Amino acid sequence: MKPRTRLSIALLVSFVVLVLGFLLPASVPAQAYAGRPKLIVIVVIDQFRGDYLNRDRAEFKGRGFNLFMNEGAWFTDCYYDYANTKTAPGHATIGTGAYTDGHGIEANDFWDASRSWDHKVSSVEDERYRLVDLPPASIPANQPGAPDTALKYVIGASPRNLRATTLGDELRLATDGRSRVYGISLKDRAAILPAGQSANGAFWIDNSSGQFTTSTYYMEQLPEWARAFNASGRVAEAAREAMVEGTTQFYELVGRTPAANRYELDFAKALIAGEKLGQNGVTDLVVVSLSANDIQGHQFGPNSDSEEQMILSLDRDLDDFDSWLDRSVGLQNVWLALSADHGIAPIPADAAKLGIDSAVVDMDKLYARLNAELNALYSPGMQTQYILPGPDLPYIALDRRSFERVKIDEKAAEDEVSKLLDEAIVSPVPQKSPDTIQPLPPPAQHRLPPTPQLAGVYTRFDLAHGQLPPSEWGKLLAHSYADHGNWYVMLVLGAYQMEDLHGSIGTTHFSPWSYDRHVPLAFYGAPFIPGEYHGRVAPVDMAATLASLAGVNQPSAAVGRVLTEAIKPIRPIGTQ
Ligand SMILES: [Zn+2]
Repeated sequence: MKPRTRLSIALLVSFVVLVLGFLLPASVPAQAYAGRPKLIVIVVIDQFRGDYLNRDRAEFKGRGFNLFMNEGAWFTDCYYDYANTKTAPGHATIGTGAYTDGHGIEANDFWDASRSWDHKVSSVEDERYRLVDLPPASIPANQPGAPDTALKYVIGASPRNLRATTLGDELRLATDGRSRVYGISLKDRAAILPAGQSANGAFWIDNSSGQFTTSTYYMEQLPEWARAFNASGRVAEAAREAMVEGTTQFYELVGRTPAANRYELDFAKALIAGEKLGQNGVTDLVVVSLSANDIQGHQFGPNSDSEEQMILSLDRDLDDFDSWLDRSVGLQNVWLALSADHGIAPIPADAAKLGIDSAVVDMDKLYARLNAELNALYSPGMQTQYILPGPDLPYIALDRRSFERVKIDEKAAEDEVSKLLDEAIVSPVPQKSPDTIQPLPPPAQHRLPPTPQLAGVYTRFDLAHGQLPPSEWGKLLAHSYADHGNWYVMLVLGAYQMEDLHGSIGTTHFSPWSYDRHVPLAFYGAPFIPGEYHGRVAPVDMAATLASLAGVNQPSAAVGRVLTEAIKPIRPIGTQ
């Protein structure tokens, strides 16, 4: 190349740079984050097993579930990789992309030695804050004798126990707080935990009136649009739809009907419109946790007509919500993600009819037996409480103060409780005396009734020291580890077995078995390759994938995998 040609090229390059310099606004700050979608909406269905979408697929209409199944990336085999399949840990996992050993939330309520020996604390309860804008009837009277001027309030809530950041936190960190992040649910824990520590707001209902509230952790009073929603008569309309007009048990009676999903989705619309989400030049995030399916599902089970109606009704409501999103923000600007916090077991009697060994265990009797046996061992003649009440299986909490008084250390205490549980749940085989040979009993002519089985008992001590089976099973248990200063053991009953619910509710979820861990996982949006994916994935992959696509740091304890198989390839440079 001649020197003159080189000079011309250099001049041309300088000219282009100069022109570009004039065209581009000088004030664009250098930052890694380019804010791809205007809005991410994560829909969490509380208690929704992964097989439901397949089961009811033929009945789906419009762009509700079909938006995910036909136009999005739908993962049919998504399983939680931990043993404590409850609402609070599930929602924390969806937000953080981590398990209990990463985010610190093991149960809905737990004994926290650093906070109270009188009651279990809820995963989000926080006495340093109060709930706001509650109707007067929902605020308890002060203690008798308290001055008239004493402030009446209900204890607030916050993500104080959450030890990891969420996708929302990372969006806010990446944009210096310009991304707006919100959580919505009927339940406080399900609104707060997936949104994260830095969320702009989390909204849930006052159980009695059904009005939306929040905690002073977020704000001193509800925003104008939320007050207007509460005053709009929408709550009364939901009660009318559920045919319990004027109820003061909104959570139980409206909460178990499809009317509750519509009520929540309408609040989500009011939030998106009221806060102008998707109009801030960066990516905003809303997590909507729909509680109704859990409230009805515990009562009627996964195979009931009630479950079927709830799913088909939700399909229509999601269709309506998606159309609204399309009109208001434009679906081309939105990424949607769908999952659930846990699955559910069939009602034990239904499974037993098919010959499944779905026995139930009376926890009250079991607790009485454990306490009696521990007293006989360590404090004969006494009525010491060694086991803390209110089990939140799989955890059984030990009162360490009682053991410490009789000089028993954690390892010895937890080992003893494990041994006693083993003996109590597995019916002991009667020992034959060596000099008498008993004839065998005659073979049964029919299937024998279900019998409680013990799949395993694991101590906190062993979990803390990594002394677990070197297997997939061991990994599930390790992921369920949390430390709130108490001693505990984890009890795993046989598959399809559960605690006796005494007829108050029909079934539950709490175990490491597949039916409690199987949930849907699906995405809709520009970066996803539509299709049905059968590879094994986990709910922790949602936060990892969305963080990666949004170009932000993964949440602090995230262990999920970026689901690259469902992401459109990046266009090679120079091609269209
Ligand atoms: Zn539940």
